[in-house]
Amino acid sequence: MDNSLPAVNIMGVRIHNVTMQEALAHLSGMLSRGERGYVVTPNAEIVYLGRRDEAAREVLNGAALSVPDGIGVVRAASVYGTPVREKVAGVELAENLLPELVAQEKSLYILGAKPGVAERAAKNLTQKYPGLKIAGVHDGYFKEDAEVLPGIRESGAAVCFVCLGCPKQEFWMRKNLEASGCCLMLGVGGSVDIYAGEAQRAPKIFIRLGLEWFYRLLRQPSRIGRMMSLPKFLLLAMGDRITGKKWSDEK
Ligand code: UDP
Repeated sequence: MDNSLPAVNIMGVRIHNVTMQEALAHLSGMLSRGERGYVVTPNAEIVYLGRRDEAAREVLNGAALSVPDGIGVVRAASVYGTPVREKVAGVELAENLLPELVAQEKSLYILGAKPGVAERAAKNLTQKYPGLKIAGVHDGYFKEDAEVLPGIRESGAAVCFVCLGCPKQEFWMRKNLEASGCCLMLGVGGSVDIYAGEAQRAPKIFIRLGLEWFYRLLRQPSRIGRMMSLPKFLLLAMGDRITGKKWSDEK
C-alpha cells in the first residue's frame, strides 16, 4: 500500500486521488528507482467486489497505485463527499507509460487474452512507439503459473501488462510480482484487446459524457448482468452516505 499519494476510501477500497500526469510521474519514478509494485484500476464492479470480499479488498489495497478507472467510482467518490480529481482509465495509463519505458530503455511483457492477441498488440504498440522493446508475450489461458513465470523472468521485462480479467489478474499480480522479476505490473483487463485492434474503445463523445459503460453494453448486451452492479453500487454509496457508514482501508 502506498501512503505517499493522496487517496480516498470507497467502500473499504483505497483509490488514489491523482491525475493521469501524477499517476504517470509516480510510476516512472518507481521504474527509475527500481521500486517494485503492482497497479490496479478499479471500476464499480471491482470496488463492489472489494466491499463484499475481504481477500479481494486486501489485494486491491496492497497496490502501489490504484486509479479510478470508471465513471461509477468517480461518482461514488463524490457521493461519499471525497471527490476524486479525474477518471484515470487503465487502458490510457498503461499506454501513456510506454514512452517512459522507451526513454528509460526498459522492456515490456504482455500477458493475457486469447492466443495471438498479445502478439498483435505488441506489433501495433511497437509501430506506434518506435524504440519500444517487447521482452515477450503470452496468452492468458495457461493452467499453471510455472508455464509463464520463467519466461517472464528470463525476458528481463521491467513492466508487465497483466490482462487476465478481474479479479484474476489482481490476485495473480500480487502472488507473482516478486517471482517475475518485473518492477511494475499493471492489471489492465481488456486493454490488450484494444491495443490489438480486437476491441474498440467507445467514441470520445461517450467517454466525455461518462457513458462508456453504455457503449460497451450496446456492443456486448451479454454484459447486462455484470453491469447491473453499477446502479446497485451507486445506491449502496448513497445508502452509506445517508446512514453515515464509515469504511476503513487499513489491512
Ligand atoms: N482473459 C485471459 N484469461 C482468462 C480470462 C480472461 O486472458 O482466464 C482475458 C480475456 O481474453 C480478455 C481480458 O482477459 O482479453 C479481459 O477479460 P474480461 O473482459 O472478461 O475482463 P474485464 O477486464 O472486463 O474484467
